[in-house]
Amino acid sequence: MKLPQIGDWTDYAGLARLQQDRLPAVLAAAERSPFYRERGVGPLPEQPLTTKQDLRDAYPFGMLATGRADLATYHESSGSSGDATASYYTEADWTDLAERFARKWVGITAADTMMVRTPYALMITGHLAHAAARRHGATVVPADNRSLATPYSRVVRLLHDLGVTLTWSLPTDTLLWAAAARVAGYRDFPSLRALFVGGEPLGAARKARIGRVWGVPVVEEYGATETGSLAGECRHGTMHLWADRAVFEVQDPATGELTPAGRGRLVVTPLFREAMPLLRYAIEDEVEVSYAQCPCGWHLPAVRVLGRTAFAAGDLTQLGLEELVFGLPDEYGVWFWRARADGDRLRVQIEVADRWRADAAGALTAAIRDAYPGIDAHVAPVPAGGLVPFGLLTARAEVMKPRGLFAAGEDWDTALRYY
Ligand code: AMP
Ligand code: MG
Ligand code: ZN
Repeated sequence: MKLPQIGDWTDYAGLARLQQDRLPAVLAAAERSPFYRERGVGPLPEQPLTTKQDLRDAYPFGMLATGRADLATYHESSGSSGDATASYYTEADWTDLAERFARKWVGITAADTMMVRTPYALMITGHLAHAAARRHGATVVPADNRSLATPYSRVVRLLHDLGVTLTWSLPTDTLLWAAAARVAGYRDFPSLRALFVGGEPLGAARKARIGRVWGVPVVEEYGATETGSLAGECRHGTMHLWADRAVFEVQDPATGELTPAGRGRLVVTPLFREAMPLLRYAIEDEVEVSYAQCPCGWHLPAVRVLGRTAFAAGDLTQLGLEELVFGLPDEYGVWFWRARADGDRLRVQIEVADRWRADAAGALTAAIRDAYPGIDAHVAPVPAGGLVPFGLLTARAEVMKPRGLFAAGEDWDTALRYY
């Protein structure tokens, strides 16, 4: 199977042709899965959406279009929205996955040391970055972010001592490293070239702030366990959908209508999947897609990921609020915040050093009132350690093996609870 590469098409018409040429094979693959065989496979424009509920109902192997022996990996998504949804990939599927992840404008090379700081357990994210880095000959430091083996103190030690050049993590995690590095007394990380981030909405202000804190480019990516990478950044800071590897549509939530661009819910039809074909998969992310020309010349649509609507309260979105928090002057050093609706008020807490307490709280209150005149915001400054406990930044790795025999006076509760 020959996978398209950027440069294989020279305009949007070429991209559309490439998609059309591939669709018959996609529909034929879908016919091989029990789910689509039962549902019936028609031309894509007539195909109903495949929902997360469909995936849940098909658990574990109702979507499988190959033999079990052909599978390379099995995954489940983070489960933020309900029961497990299974995803599985063949070795050939993995070539497509790893290539897409590595398409960012900052490339991965054999000279790189890349810290993978996203989960390896069940989800795809850690394995995805790992596979992409290995394909390009980089040295992988598999650090996970859901493992007791790698608390923040250890992460910053590794980042520093190994001269890590690239990282892959949630954007939030990079600020936690910065806080942990400060506590541990690490001042500079001269080898670092770029931070690859994804997995949660990231506004322009927070992205820029992370870039200034670390002094390197922040390169965003958008994807999911059921699909792998869907979009990545070009050197002009645009996130482009990998539309040579999947057909993307946007559903208007009011009318249900599907269009190639605009604002609404993203619908994805991957073009190169053996194990688990998906036709018009409704990923439940709110996005804005546009086909404007970008100077990068990739001829791939741009996407803005607005995130799940569940994180919105009225007019106010998490992303909107985050922009205001990270729009505060750098010198206030506000990196950590949380907010909660409380009747018709909005309670906001920010972690801020004593000398900037009043300035930061005042500026944020004004900014929120300005942006959302209807919202009665109450901003409470909390001291350092108030939102991110000091102990989280300094904790040591836990014991990692079971043990039966203990010396007198030793704590033997860790015998089997060694994790
Ligand atoms: P998962 O299904 O657990 O692999 O998580 C994937 C979900 O994370 C996506 O459906 C999005 O809701 C979210 N996500 C991933 N990358 C981004 C991003 N760059 N911006 C916003 N949300 C993202
Ligand atoms: Mg998901
Ligand atoms: Zn571009």
